[in-house]
Amino acid sequence: MVGEKQILLVEDEPAMALGITDALSFEGYRVVHAPTGRQAVELARAACPDLVLLDLMLPDTNGYEVCAQLRKLSRSVPILILSARSQDSDKIRGLDAGADDYVTKPFSLGELAARVRAALRRVERAAAAPQAVRIGRAEVNLPGHAVLLDGREEALSSYEVELLRLLLEKSGEAVGRDEILDRVWGVQAINSRAVDNFIVKLRKKIETTPDKPQHILTVYGRGYKLVP
Ligand code: CA
Repeated sequence: MVGEKQILLVEDEPAMALGITDALSFEGYRVVHAPTGRQAVELARAACPDLVLLDLMLPDTNGYEVCAQLRKLSRSVPILILSARSQDSDKIRGLDAGADDYVTKPFSLGELAARVRAALRRVERAAAAPQAVRIGRAEVNLPGHAVLLDGREEALSSYEVELLRLLLEKSGEAVGRDEILDRVWGVQAINSRAVDNFIVKLRKKIETTPDKPQHILTVYGRGYKLVP
């Protein structure tokens, strides 16, 4: 049972909105729909959704702007961008604006439902994690999606939280890219280079000298290893 999780769907195309609403309602989610960016922010404020599906091409504002505003309302709500754009620069821009995942249209409703389940699972796992963990000089708060390093606080995306959780669980052991993909993304829709990009971003938040990492180490031919 999904326990009546509420999903905010931000999508201006009626047919697309209807298809997604039907598919997710069938899976047991409650879907609230916003056809514009302005309505999306209003609904997010009023309804506190458990997850947001966000189309990038909206009639009033662009999706990146909406994403940044939603991220200000909630640091931990998973935001999945839906867009026909498939270029890497758009994906990076979306992730930089605070999105957790990126689903390129056309996608199957089955794939979308799998991504939604995986994102909600990450939130549940993060909530069950210990409040504060120390990695070197960084103080990591997994349920709060935050890391404090030398007095500066940075937000962690739900992928970064899950990646850290996995590395912490296997502290001192090498964790392979395939295992990271399988556990953190749950679906094999992303290539293993993405794992390396996430590691680079995480090091910037956790390591005092990110290009000479002391805690999140590369194990050649194996993967990555955390040394707290
Ligand atoms: Ca659109």
